[in-house]
Amino acid sequence: MADQPTSARAVVIGGGIIGCSTAYHLAKLGWTDTVLIERHKLTSGSTFHAAGLVGQLRTSANITQLLGYSVELYRTLEAETGLSTGWKMNGGLRLACNDERWNEVKRQATTAKSFGLEMHLLSAKEAQDLWPLMTVDDVVGAAFLPTDGQANPSDITMALARGARMAGATIVEDTEVLGVDVVDGVIKAVITEHGRIECERVICCAGQWTRAFATTVGVNVPLVSVEHQYIITAQLDGGVPRDLPTLRDPDRLTYYKEEVGGLVMGGYEPNPVPWAVGGIPKPFTFQLLESDFDHFAPIMELAMGRVPALQTAGVNELINGPESFTPDGNFILGEAPELKNFFVGAGFNAFGIAAGGGAGMALAEWVHKGVAPYDLWVVDIRRFGRSHQDTDWVRTRTLEAYAKHYTMAWPSEEHASGRPSRTSPLYPRLLAAGACFGEKLGWERPNWFADASLGEEPRDAYTYGRQNWFAAVGREHRATREAAAIFDQTSFAKFAMKGPDALAALNWICANNVDKPVGSLTYTQMLDDRGGIQCDLTVGRVGIDEYYVVTGTGFATHDFDWIERNIPAGMNAQLFDITSASSVLSLFGPNARAILSAVTRADISNDAFPFGTMQTIGIAGCPVRALRITYVGELGWELHVPVEYATAVYDTILTAGADHGLVNAGYRAIESLRLEKGYRAWGSDIGPDHTPFESGLGWAVKLKTAIDFKGRASMETQARDGVRKLLAAFTVDPDVVLLGRETIYRDGERVGWLTSGGFGYTIDRSIGYGYVRHPDRVTAAYVLDGTYELEVATERVPAEVSLKPLYDPTMSKIKI
Ligand SMILES: Cc1cc2nc3c(=O)[nH]c(=O)nc-3n(C[C@H](O)[C@H](O)[C@H](O)COP(=O)(O)OP(=O)(O)OC[C@H]3O[C@@H](n4cnc5c(N)ncnc54)[C@H](O)[C@@H]3O)c2cc1C
Repeated sequence: MADQPTSARAVVIGGGIIGCSTAYHLAKLGWTDTVLIERHKLTSGSTFHAAGLVGQLRTSANITQLLGYSVELYRTLEAETGLSTGWKMNGGLRLACNDERWNEVKRQATTAKSFGLEMHLLSAKEAQDLWPLMTVDDVVGAAFLPTDGQANPSDITMALARGARMAGATIVEDTEVLGVDVVDGVIKAVITEHGRIECERVICCAGQWTRAFATTVGVNVPLVSVEHQYIITAQLDGGVPRDLPTLRDPDRLTYYKEEVGGLVMGGYEPNPVPWAVGGIPKPFTFQLLESDFDHFAPIMELAMGRVPALQTAGVNELINGPESFTPDGNFILGEAPELKNFFVGAGFNAFGIAAGGGAGMALAEWVHKGVAPYDLWVVDIRRFGRSHQDTDWVRTRTLEAYAKHYTMAWPSEEHASGRPSRTSPLYPRLLAAGACFGEKLGWERPNWFADASLGEEPRDAYTYGRQNWFAAVGREHRATREAAAIFDQTSFAKFAMKGPDALAALNWICANNVDKPVGSLTYTQMLDDRGGIQCDLTVGRVGIDEYYVVTGTGFATHDFDWIERNIPAGMNAQLFDITSASSVLSLFGPNARAILSAVTRADISNDAFPFGTMQTIGIAGCPVRALRITYVGELGWELHVPVEYATAVYDTILTAGADHGLVNAGYRAIESLRLEKGYRAWGSDIGPDHTPFESGLGWAVKLKTAIDFKGRASMETQARDGVRKLLAAFTVDPDVVLLGRETIYRDGERVGWLTSGGFGYTIDRSIGYGYVRHPDRVTAAYVLDGTYELEVATERVPAEVSLKPLYDPTMSKIKI
């Protein structure tokens, strides 16, 4: 192996599949002065003991694309490097053993179609023909993905390492990285047991060691180690065909692959065992944990029911390997918000071999260009926040995610563990009022309110059909449209931007013009250089040199990071996270003005307090920052209240609202209201892969001014040349349940998939949003000229298209 160099442009820490893939892709991008440092030998962490299944289908189009990239790479890697990889494209089977699972599988088949991945639905008999070793008495049906496969994890990693070296990277083994030298927030060098490597960028791919290592430079990586077991059998009587597809049997929590005439069988227990709670022992290389036959027994039992040959098969080994898992079951990629130029690729939840090729590619591009190659929000390190600092909380939630690996992935499913964690001051009141809470970034948020007098209980009962909260959300929806509702939105992320250059900095970062009078509110996107929407938020002008920024709960870390890192060098503007300082009570509905005027002396008439402005008004002795905006399409105010006043303000409003039909309402009503009104949701309808012109938000881009802003050049090009996709609204029969990811057909041709799906109670239609794509150009006329169908769980239903809000506030009886 190479000697340790004294300088490099990038240092990759860790020689598992992720580090090797990242070094490979960096070198291919021209970063030939990349050095990979491995403490012991390549693959000696989790990689050497992986089972090697490579599946592709995920709920996100882009992660499916990323896994598809892995498959493409693994197909050709052996020819490129001359090292065998054990890659076999023998396909993957997934079984469904009850009607709800079959519904899930059918929806997955439609998702696969949406994302361009080949997937076939099979009868139980057809599945058995492909996998003769199994019984299928309880099988309702199966899905088959012909391009899934399996690989030898160590061989693939060695081939990636050789490819990296061939492209110019240096790999150093038997060398531990001891720390990173950071001076005034700037990475200067990596310190190893053999000395110092001056470098600009560090990419930490240290597997389950990543959390502890990253902590030394103040970076939070929420992952913990969990034991994961699989058996390797002796050759089975009659043998196992070499081309046997991989098999996933989620209702029996198990997976299988062929291995030298026998089987590998592993599973996800409902009671996972955390490992190294007090820290990973040293040394720990090429090591396995003690086989835990007792713990594996229930999995074995389930497997023997599916594959009778296992009852008599010899077991060569029960592998017990530790692997890093995360609180939401997805891996962690990207530049750390806490430290510039420190990148992370870790927490692979037992699909690091499947993800390795694509994750290394994406991470290398991220290092190279400073942004992800496409929207990777679901795996972005900035999706985490304050709750994820506490390792015990991370472990609790991660064990829940592990246990749910193969359970039904229900629409709108909430986590149960580690709750309640962050609560609004109104929490006890809302609980008493029948709130059924959901959780986001640790915050308890009311999703809907059960009415005990109707026999409702505040508990979600999940299904792929209409759920138990459907009627309750409908009541809240109608109250918002016809009377008034109050929503606790305390969890909104809130920032203050201050300083003499606050205006100049924000006007550079925002696509809309925020140079407006004090008291103005501006709805704006923040774009990257490609015009992709990195943030979608509201900016209020508090003073000449002060702004108030409000964004979604889940985007607190991400949006703060984006704004802060894009303040131009030399500008005097500081950003503060003030989320915890205030509660937000949103009072929406045609009666909102009548209710508010009963509790404040401020003039809140339309002339004195127009839409798109904010004022400080008094309510119950509290200075309330009232923002006249709406995400539901009705008259209303967001009332931002210092937390210590929240209960007094809430009680006062509730009392005043009694005569005006005021009700408590939750986030599921907000969702249905916003779908009718056509408000876009970042993370689904809009994101880095979409520009304002593509998503119908071109009106919020300040191209008519001479003000320069980030992304302006791309926006000018699109304004001139047009776009290749446009976001449109679709409505279908109210009995059809839309969830998102359904396929869109225009005149019989597949043109995209739904980014959001839900129900509109006022219009009594199911609603979906999605991009209509065409490789040349898409215009409004092109969208509106088509005849549409949506494929829902493999069945096509007719759909109507619209580029306008489906609900117009003028439909409301009372004018706003
Ligand atoms: C039992 C089991 C079965 C699995 N089966 C599958 C499967 O079928 N399909 C699939 O896709 N995935 C599977 N996985 C998951 C897969 O093994 C992992 O996701 C993957 O190997 C993670 O790779 P990595 O590079 O992130 O981590 P690792 O392979 O652990 O690599 C991290 C490396 O960093 C090094 N390191 C740490 N700290 C330092 C330091 N300070 N200085 C230098 N080096 C350092 C370590 O020595 C280690 O080599 C399985 C996992 C287990 C446990």
